[in-house]
Amino acid sequence: MELAMKRIALYPGSFDPVTNGHMDILHQALALADKVVVAIGVHPGKTPLFSFEERLNLIHEAARAEFAAAEADRIDVISFSNLVVDTAREQGAAYLVRGLRDGTDLDYEMQMAGMNGTLEPDIRTVFLPASPDVRHITATLVRQIAKMGGEISAFVPEPVASPLRRRARPDS
Ligand code: ADP
Repeated sequence: MELAMKRIALYPGSFDPVTNGHMDILHQALALADKVVVAIGVHPGKTPLFSFEERLNLIHEAARAEFAAAEADRIDVISFSNLVVDTAREQGAAYLVRGLRDGTDLDYEMQMAGMNGTLEPDIRTVFLPASPDVRHITATLVRQIAKMGGEISAFVPEPVASPLRRRARPDS
């Protein structure tokens, strides 16, 4: 396939850590794009549970565990700290992928899509609906449950579960 015809989608987020909800959107995005660049936002001053390198490794491990090799091979993971649309342009991505869980997501995402579309009209936002079985999952609640010793295996890919338990409760 011509390089110029390759459909590249940028999937930005925190992924701290990657959940079954993120994996659902990533899987849907791989069906639409030739390459999906997962872009991990790094904010100076905000301390995440997992470092960028750890989040990158967990995404790759989860993709290898859950997706066919031909799909996992079409995923790139990068970090970004500048504007999403600038990162998309740098990556040659014409699409921004975002997952929608509910109306609250929609209201916020419509604002971002509108502003990103004004900043960079050639980069189009694509909303993908969460699958019913994962739409309740948020990384924030998963981290809280893990910190209180709750069972998190229903919410995250298998390679994420043990590292998450250890990181959330280092003394137990
Ligand atoms: P952000 O802080 O940018 O929302 P997240 O890592 O929480 O970063 O989410 C990244 C993207 O993944 C967002 O588009 C979000 O809507 C989507 N997402 C997160 N969890 C789910 C889920 N359970 N189902 C569908 N999409 C999800």
